[in-house]
Amino acid sequence: MNGAGLSARPVNATLHRVARTVREGYSSRTVTAQSHINSYYAATLNDTTRHPRLEGTVKADVCIVGGGFSGIATALTLAERGYKVVLLEAERIGWGASGRNGGQLIAGMSGEGAIKRQYGAKGAKFLRDIRYRGHEIIKERIARYAIDCDLKPGWMEVAARVKHMDGLRAYVEERRAEGDGDHLELIEKANLPEVLGTTEYHGGYVDPMSGHLHGLNLCLGEARAAAALGVQIFEQSSVTALAGGSKPWVRTANGQVDANAVVIGGEIYERFGQPKLRGLMFPTGSYIIATEPLEPELASSINPRDLAVADSNMILDYFRLSADKRMLFGGRCNYSNRDPGDIAATLKPRLTQIFPQLAGTRIDYAWGGRIGIVINRVPAIGRLEPNLYYLQGYCGHGINTTHIAGEIVADAISGTFERFDMFDKIRHIRLPLSGWAGNQMLAIGMIYYRIKDLL
Ligand SMILES: Cc1cc2nc3c(=O)[nH]c(=O)nc-3n(C[C@H](O)[C@H](O)[C@H](O)COP(=O)(O)OP(=O)(O)OC[C@H]3O[C@@H](n4cnc5c(N)ncnc54)[C@H](O)[C@@H]3O)c2cc1C
Repeated sequence: MNGAGLSARPVNATLHRVARTVREGYSSRTVTAQSHINSYYAATLNDTTRHPRLEGTVKADVCIVGGGFSGIATALTLAERGYKVVLLEAERIGWGASGRNGGQLIAGMSGEGAIKRQYGAKGAKFLRDIRYRGHEIIKERIARYAIDCDLKPGWMEVAARVKHMDGLRAYVEERRAEGDGDHLELIEKANLPEVLGTTEYHGGYVDPMSGHLHGLNLCLGEARAAAALGVQIFEQSSVTALAGGSKPWVRTANGQVDANAVVIGGEIYERFGQPKLRGLMFPTGSYIIATEPLEPELASSINPRDLAVADSNMILDYFRLSADKRMLFGGRCNYSNRDPGDIAATLKPRLTQIFPQLAGTRIDYAWGGRIGIVINRVPAIGRLEPNLYYLQGYCGHGINTTHIAGEIVADAISGTFERFDMFDKIRHIRLPLSGWAGNQMLAIGMIYYRIKDLL
C-alpha cells in the first residue's frame, strides 16, 4: 500500500511489467503479455478481439511491424487504398505507448524549430499545412468506422513560470500572423480561474480544435476497421529479423511474411541490424495516475471546460478528466531514466500541489510507458533501403503525429514522395553510443532541461 490509497497489487504488477519493459528495451521476444498492462485504459477497453499468432508463410503487398498508432494508422490508410497488408504485433494491439498515453490530441509535432531551421519558409508552410492533419484523420475514422473513444474538444497549454507566458503569447501571435491562429484563445492569469480551478499557473492558451480521447479504444477501433478491410493482423508475433531490397521479408519465431515493402511501424527499440537506426531514438519513461471518479461538482470546479492540459515545461506535467470524470495526471517521476519505485507516491503530491482539492481522493490506477526521444525532436520518418520504411520518435507528441506519419509513409509506398522526402532528408543527430550509454546521455539531457525549466 502507499499513502495515496492505491491497492498494492495493480501497482506492483504495473511496475513489474514496466521494469521488464525497460530492462529489455521493449524487446518483446522474451515477454509474453496475455493482456494489456493494468491501467485505466485496459480496465475500460471496449474491444476484446484477439488476433492469431503468425504460423507459416504468408504473402502481402506490405508487411507492417508494430500494432500501435503508427503501424495501425499506416495499415488502415494502405487498406483504404486497396493494398493487401499484413501487420505483426509482438504483444497485443495497443500494448505500447498507444494504449497507455495521456490521451491529449495536440496540434503540430515536436521538433518544429528544427524543421523551420532546415527548410525556412518552406518548412513553416509545411508545418502549417499538416498541423491538424492527424486530428482530421482521427475524426474522419471515428465517424466512418463508428469508433467509440470518448473524443472531447479542447486542449490548453499553461504557463508553468511567469516568463513562459511571454513565450505562449508570442506563439499565439505568430500563429495568428500566419493566418492559422484565430481560433486560439489566450487566457491571462487573471482569467485563469474561469478555466481551471488552480492558482499554480500564470495563464495559457486554449486550442479548441485539439482535444483528448481514450487512446487504447481509438487504436483498437482503428485495428478493427483495418481488419474489416482485409488487413491480416497477428498478435504475439514478435519480429526477429527483416529485410528490404528487391525481395523484402519479415521473420518471426514461427513464420515469415514475403512482401513488396516492409514498414517498421512505430516506437520499436530493436534496430533489426539497421545501421541508420543506431543511436537515433532512445526510450524514456512517462507515468500516469488515475483517481477514483470525481463528484460532478468537484470535477467541474477543477476543469469546468473539460480541457486536456499540459504545462509549458520541457519535462512537463499533463492532465485531463476521463469520460467517467477521473483525473488522469501524468508526467515524469525522476530524471535518472529509471522507473520509479512507486508511481502513485511520486505523482500524487504533484497533483495535489496543483489541485489541493484532490488531497483525499483515492488513486485507482498507476502505470507507465515508453516515449521515443530523438535528439533534434523531429519525428524520424524515412527509408532504410529500397522498400524498407520506418516511422518513430514522436517525443511524447504522438497521437496526432503518428496519423500524419502513417499517411506520409502510405503515400511513399503509393509513389508520392513530396512530404516523405521532407522528413527523410532531415538532418538527424545520431549518438555514437550503445543503448545503455545513450540512455545515460538522455538522463543527463533530462536533468539539463529540468534545470532550464526551473530557472
Ligand atoms: C505515458 C505516456 C503518455 C503519453 N501521452 C501522450 C499524449 O497525451 N499525447 C500524445 O500525443 N502522445 C502521448 N504519448 C506518446 C504517444 O503515446 C506515442 O508517441 C505513440 O503512441 C507512439 O505510437 P507507436 O505506434 O509509434 O508506438 P507504440 O504504441 O509503442 O507501438 C509500438 C508497438 O510495436 C510493438 N513491437 C515492439 N517490438 C516489436 C517486434 N519486434 N515485433 C513486433 N512488434 C513489436 C510493441 O509491442 C508496440 O505495440 C505518451 C506516451 C506515454 C508512454
